[in-house]
Amino acid sequence: MKPLSLLFCIFFPVASLAFVNGKVTGSDTLSIVMVSFRDVRGDSFYQDGRWWGYKTRHRKIDFEHILNTFGYPISDQTPPVALEHYAPNGDRLFAGLVDYFHILSQGQYQLTVTITNPFDEQGYPLWFQLPQEKSFYSRRPFYEFIREAMAAAESNGVQLKPRRTNRICFVYTGNRWDTIPPQVDEVGGRYMRVHERWQWPYDRESADAPLTHVGMYCHEYAHLLGAEHHRPSAVSLWDLMGNGQKNAFAGSFGNCPAPLNPWLRAQWGWLSLHECEGDAEISLIYHTAEQYYLYQPVGTSHRLLLENRQYRQLFDCGLPGHDTHANGGLLIWKIGDGSSIDLIEADGNEGEMNAAEDVFRCHRGEIIDIPLPSQKDTSVVVRLQILHVSADNDTIRVRVSSSIMAE
Ligand SMILES: [Zn+2]
Repeated sequence: MKPLSLLFCIFFPVASLAFVNGKVTGSDTLSIVMVSFRDVRGDSFYQDGRWWGYKTRHRKIDFEHILNTFGYPISDQTPPVALEHYAPNGDRLFAGLVDYFHILSQGQYQLTVTITNPFDEQGYPLWFQLPQEKSFYSRRPFYEFIREAMAAAESNGVQLKPRRTNRICFVYTGNRWDTIPPQVDEVGGRYMRVHERWQWPYDRESADAPLTHVGMYCHEYAHLLGAEHHRPSAVSLWDLMGNGQKNAFAGSFGNCPAPLNPWLRAQWGWLSLHECEGDAEISLIYHTAEQYYLYQPVGTSHRLLLENRQYRQLFDCGLPGHDTHANGGLLIWKIGDGSSIDLIEADGNEGEMNAAEDVFRCHRGEIIDIPLPSQKDTSVVVRLQILHVSADNDTIRVRVSSSIMAE
């Protein structure tokens, strides 16, 4: 059962302009600090008057698959996956946190992850125990949790020196509690927190709750790099900072998270956008440098970011509609004033429930008109005329033009 709630992550919106408008390149480190509670441990939990054992326990190798694995042989082929890595519950694993940022930055940003906890002879982590029960930390400020978790690490001989180039990720035992939410201290900050297990319903333990997949870690870490939520716009599952940390392929919640949207990647220096204006003919070619075009219409400060998004490569494999066996198509993002981004839904409906119909599954000869906000007394319409669509949809050729009309 999937949660209907859109609640996912909380942060204090204190954005650093240097992060928002700057490039994100080079290398950083992330130290993992795994903490347990008096009543929720790595192997068992106390609930409803007795102790329960988890059906699966997680070893070092499981956390390494989720968090690390730089050089992971993520497939570039069709079908997309030729990997044989699985979580203990059988979910397929595609790439770790390190891989996600390496792949999306095209090698320009390199993260190194270190787990600070020791492991026993069988590879199970020795969690640093917090002094209280899990419910004690419910609705407490994040900084209190940080303080106690840092103290628990230090009393186990782990010295931490958090900085913006060496951030800390706390992983707490058991299921996700929304009263102990996955979150960061601030956008562009130094601390993030993620739950070890992820299963609906939240705020209680369950013996069969599976390992939290990479998507949640990617979403929180992207906040630390400076990414904000895209609200109130409805990019939903098409963007990691919408709700794309939940995307899955051959597994449960978040094993194949959405890419960060291409506008943010371009701002971070991870992607080149071809720019065009006026009356132009462009060929959008999937999974090449020709995949993305930024179109500037006349008479408005808004722009359109057009991309050919199919389902065959990397993190596209878990996007909405991947399981319908339809091709992808044109994904059209609206870049507004102040660089805000929104998705223009092909079906006109916002939200996650119908996100598979957000992509324009266009065919030759089709005309798509997109009205944009403009100056007083005029309206602007961008017209896309589909000139050609290749059999596999890898190439979509479009004539783009825009016109100003008096109101
Ligand atoms: Zn968030």
